[in-house]
Parts: sequence; C-alpha cells; structure tokens
Amino acid sequence: MARIIQNYEECIGCGTCAALCPKFWEMVEGEAKARPIGGKKDEETGEYELEVEESEIGCNQEAADACPVQIIQIR
Ligand code: SF4
Repeated sequence: MARIIQNYEECIGCGTCAALCPKFWEMVEGEAKARPIGGKKDEETGEYELEVEESEIGCNQEAADACPVQIIQIR
C-alpha cells in the first residue's frame, strides 16, 4: 500500500491533479480546491490522506509531479 497525502489548505485549485488523474482526484464544489476521492481529512493538520495499492500510484505520481505548489506527497 501507499499513502497519498495532500496539504489541502495550500491547494490553489488549479485542477491539474483532477485532469491528470480523474479516477483519484476531484474538485470540491464551492471551495476552488481539489482533494483525493474518498480521502480522509485530518482536521489537526488539514491534510487529506488516501491509501492506494502500489499499482494505483501511476497517475497520482504524475499529479504529484505536476502540482504547481508541490503539495501532493506519496509515501
Ligand atoms: S494540482 Fe495541486 S494545486 Fe492544483 S488542484 Fe491539485 S492539489 Fe491543488
């Protein structure tokens, strides 16, 4: 398994992650931000976390590499 972590508060809502990896990323209506679909938000850190299979990292890595504010991490 791998964890995808996103610093939600710093998302600028550019939409790149949702365009590159629509199966795993969605724009949040009314917030101008994106989040990982089905991810859980840690209210203390403000980060979203989603567990995926190693085989599902693919486009999530592309999203992480392309995010203009570099707030997506894969661990
Ligand atoms: S690519 Fe980064 S800044 Fe753009 S919507 Fe996704 S998480 Fe937010």
